[in-house]
Amino acid sequence: MSDILTTGQCLCGNVTYTLKGEPIRMMQCHCKDCQRATGTGHLNNAFFKEEQFELQGQVKAHEQTAASGNTNIRYFCPECGSRIYNEIAARKGIVGIAVGTADNNEWFEPAGVIFCKDRPSWDLTTSEVPNFDEMPPPPPKQ
Ligand SMILES: [Zn+2]
Ligand SMILES: [Zn+2]
Repeated sequence: MSDILTTGQCLCGNVTYTLKGEPIRMMQCHCKDCQRATGTGHLNNAFFKEEQFELQGQVKAHEQTAASGNTNIRYFCPECGSRIYNEIAARKGIVGIAVGTADNNEWFEPAGVIFCKDRPSWDLTTSEVPNFDEMPPPPPKQ
């Protein structure tokens, strides 16, 4: 749990972080919000407990109401705009790391692909893990 999994940073390097231990859950999301927030066809998200995530530097928060009605808070570097992580207001204590910002992200293995109804035809994600049209049922209690 205390082992360092990876460090990570934004594009300009003003925001850095350290992740410890193993992710709780890993997903790829094709929803339109993730497409707009990343500018790509999907977001690769790895979820960790807050205490596994150590952030250095200033981030700016953007709050938005998701389709589920939950408030999704996305944190990004105010200098270069790299999106670092997000939190769901109703589920504080869990952070979703934008995996591309991790220095080493070879450990990433999505357990599922969600919001496949919005998957662009040119953005191929794996069908070797469960694909869901929208949001799957919540994971079993940790
Ligand atoms: Zn930056
Ligand atoms: Zn999404």
